[in-house]
Amino acid sequence: MLFDAHMHIGDFPMFGVSLDLAGLRTIFAEQRLDGGVVFHPDNELVSRSVAEVEGAHGLFWANPRHPGVADDCDGFLGRGFVGVKLHPLLDGYHPNDPSVHPVMEVLRARRAPALIHCGHPIFTLPWSIEELVREFPDVSVILGHMGHGNIVYINAAIDVAARNDNVYLETSGMPMHSKIAEAVQRVGRERVLFGSDVPFHDAEVERLKVEKSGLSDEDLSWVLGRSAAQLFLS
Ligand SMILES: [Zn+2]
Repeated sequence: MLFDAHMHIGDFPMFGVSLDLAGLRTIFAEQRLDGGVVFHPDNELVSRSVAEVEGAHGLFWANPRHPGVADDCDGFLGRGFVGVKLHPLLDGYHPNDPSVHPVMEVLRARRAPALIHCGHPIFTLPWSIEELVREFPDVSVILGHMGHGNIVYINAAIDVAARNDNVYLETSGMPMHSKIAEAVQRVGRERVLFGSDVPFHDAEVERLKVEKSGLSDEDLSWVLGRSAAQLFLS
């Protein structure tokens, strides 16, 4: 079971990368993905795309600055989306801004998780996300990139997950394979999720990083897929 917990679709000219529907299909086929979650600020684009790829599921991109975001979120979750993506850095808000809370209330009611970009100042550091996590202890929150490229933030992301049972860690873009094993040891394999962050990172490289992290076969099977499938689909 291979489940990718972090997939973007669309064009990203600032980064010089893009992924269209054909590209998404290719990744699912080449990587033999059983499942994955896909997102973009244009939620209708995501809805059309995941309908075309077996195993692909949408996350609702929630920008709390948009009026009616909670109702929109509820609507998309009602149509089969399996959670929410929050990007406080791109959209410019503190993770625990009161405007985020109505979205979290929808997630609580629908028992669905939020994936939050984690690892860049000023809005996506682990300690700031922890404020939101503590406000909503019954909503599952995934720290996307588990701190990203900075060891202080990576360690803090693992600490936040260790302190809060509702926090999960997602591996994409985080360079240290050894920190994946440490995360499993400290918070348990069911709360560590493989993600690729395509097209910003290569799906195969990201998977290989997890496979080389020193986990047992049993732990690896959870991190590569079972943990995410359990969180998003059950
Ligand atoms: Zn991403």
